[in-house]
Amino acid sequence: MLARDEYLERPIDFSRQRHMLCGKCSHQWVVDLGWIDRWDHALERCPGCGVTCEAEMAPRVTVDPDDPALRDENVARLVWYHTSTQPDWPTKHFDPAAGLTAQTRQMMGGDNRVAQWAERQRAKALHVGTYEAAIHNMLRRIDGQADHGNQFYLYRVHLKPTVVVRDGWLIDPSNFVGDVILDEACPPGVDVARYLNYHEDPGGLSLALGPTAIASTQSIAIPLLFNDHPGWIATAVGEFENAPTTSPPLIGSRPVGRRRAPSPKSSKASELVALLTQRLPVNLRSKFEAATAFDDNLKPEDWSRYVMGIMNTIVAPEQVAATLDGEIVRYL
Ligand SMILES: [Zn+2]
Repeated sequence: MLARDEYLERPIDFSRQRHMLCGKCSHQWVVDLGWIDRWDHALERCPGCGVTCEAEMAPRVTVDPDDPALRDENVARLVWYHTSTQPDWPTKHFDPAAGLTAQTRQMMGGDNRVAQWAERQRAKALHVGTYEAAIHNMLRRIDGQADHGNQFYLYRVHLKPTVVVRDGWLIDPSNFVGDVILDEACPPGVDVARYLNYHEDPGGLSLALGPTAIASTQSIAIPLLFNDHPGWIATAVGEFENAPTTSPPLIGSRPVGRRRAPSPKSSKASELVALLTQRLPVNLRSKFEAATAFDDNLKPEDWSRYVMGIMNTIVAPEQVAATLDGEIVRYL
């Protein structure tokens, strides 16, 4: 393993410019996140050939030619990140079937089927990427509901200096559930493969790898509250106390079907979050809003602390990363 000061930490910038490549006319250019947002809504065109996002072979983000991760010799020196709900990622002797009930095993088709499924799970590659990609990943998983309310951990990952890096980079190889088979991404003799991200920190490079490529990890539970932007939590809690206790009657005659009107507290929460959201990069706003949705079972204070903790992971990343400095180094 390298000495700590031999590792390279990249500047963290959720709003940095992105490189675009048109699949139709091969034009390459640089845009900001606002441009990509308008592009996604078919409000921008390729400067080369005029197509919108609706065209076949339409432009997509591509790698930044100056990305330090493109140089093989940098890959093991860069600091990488990962978010997981597992407190001991990457879990040694991982048994994906351990938590299955007898009933689930039966529903999956019996023990042989479960064993085959577990084998496929163990064959999956691990992923590490930029800090930004790790946070994008966490928000996507909370937004997808499956991990709503679960504790997340942020991992800082140091690779072994001897890792063999696959030439070039792959196009985001994940299937629709984000799985990559390790042997496909990293054939024999290769330890890590770079791939271009389309969804998490778009345009950034992540790595698919096996656990043997990792030298050590450090981790913290997130979200982490260390910074309460000018007393936002107390203000938010005060606003909840002033919120009406019953929902206003629905106005108008439009049938609302079975959908219930949001409670006064969740309406208040949405108002409070909307103000914070304006300060975030445009490609994180809807995920942030979904991740911070209010649940009437929550105490306003707990919810407010959670919201500010999530906010900190995006607006104060250097402080979050610095918190990792004091954590125990776990050697694999
Ligand atoms: Zn074009």
